Amino acid sequence: MKLETQCLHEGYTPGNGDTRTLPIYQSTTYTYDSTDHIGALFDLTAPGHMYSRISNPTVDAVEQKIAALEGGVGALCTSSGQAATLIAVLNILNAGDHLVSTGTIYGGTINLLAVTLKRLGIETTFVDADASEEELQKAFQPNTKAVFGETIANPAIAVLDIEKFARLAHKNGVPLIVDNTFATPFLCRPFEYGADIVLHSTTKYMDGHAVQMGGVIVDSGNFDWTNGKFPAFTQPDDSYHGLIYTQSFGKAAYITKARVQLMRDFGACQSAFGAFLLNLGLETLPLRMERHCQNADRVAHFLAQSEKVESVSYPTLEGNPYRELAQKYLPKGSSGVVSFTIRGGRDAAVRFMDSLKLASLVVHVADIRTCALHPASATHRQLTDAQLVAAGINPGLIRLSVGLEHIDDILEDLSQALAKV
Ligand SMILES: *Cc1c(COP(=O)(O)O)cnc(C)c1O
Repeated sequence: MKLETQCLHEGYTPGNGDTRTLPIYQSTTYTYDSTDHIGALFDLTAPGHMYSRISNPTVDAVEQKIAALEGGVGALCTSSGQAATLIAVLNILNAGDHLVSTGTIYGGTINLLAVTLKRLGIETTFVDADASEEELQKAFQPNTKAVFGETIANPAIAVLDIEKFARLAHKNGVPLIVDNTFATPFLCRPFEYGADIVLHSTTKYMDGHAVQMGGVIVDSGNFDWTNGKFPAFTQPDDSYHGLIYTQSFGKAAYITKARVQLMRDFGACQSAFGAFLLNLGLETLPLRMERHCQNADRVAHFLAQSEKVESVSYPTLEGNPYRELAQKYLPKGSSGVVSFTIRGGRDAAVRFMDSLKLASLVVHVADIRTCALHPASATHRQLTDAQLVAAGINPGLIRLSVGLEHIDDILEDLSQALAKV
């Protein structure tokens, strides 16, 4: 099936007389015929649901759909994108281990890696994603266990050279984890370029309607965990009396361990109702992404020719440093997120923001409705102008998440707000 068809039909196939739409299994628990069967479930030798923290039929259907969309062997839904990143990383790294991450990633992920995981004994080296392979190789240490990057990084709208990072990771015997939130599998499937693990904040385009927090981790099944660097996969797990993940689960070792060990212990699960809402979003993902990209491309070109605007970041623009990478990795479009810097700095940006009538001011992206954020007065307000510039954020920077309204209405709103600056 093509991706558009998978979005509608993967994960749930009704039988004779079953409900046409995915049912919500609103139950924490499941019943069994015998204690033997329950024992087999807890030994992980029989398939089936134990408890909805670990798996649930509604969530399972959506996990199967997302695994198919990304071309992976399995997926695990989580309560948020942050939970997906946490579990994806901790499923590989232990205290004393080291991660190499690109520096231009979601701010919440930087906090998680640079502050919270550091407190737990996991160190991260942040690298310039655009540096040469020789330069990037210098960041690797004997205890490096994974590489992390984002397909389309926020707010710089930088496109990751996935093949370059996959080569580097594999040369060093470690997996590449890619946060594919902004691209979604409709625009890019990182496994096709060598990524080993993909994760998403499903809160963004996958849900798309700003109704449900969520995350997901997808396993390509391609990484060899038996290369000597990952004993947690090849040595007995005492919490399942001696089970060895690579022996019992083969290609699905990573995603099974994430579920039965880390989801069991951390409990950051998606609910049945949350998965139902996510599934509704996924059904229309291809249509929405197509229009988000079309509208964002028009908005980027419109802003680029305005004299009130100093610069625009969007990969389809002539002269954009990521244009070639976007043509390779994002041939169908570069998502709905456009960053631009208004002339006149912080004051001009605030006047622009306060003059918008259609676009809403929110701390969110990837909604069906156009929305705008001014980092200097919101997410980064604790920083002075000088500190902002040092962090690579111009005080006049505005991040637009272009929605699905008619393009004429979006351009009219931007145009009248620019006129007030
Ligand atoms: C929002 C976001 C996250 C975090 O996801 P939540 O669902 O908000 O926890 C992670 N990565 C990227 C790229 C994001 O945009």
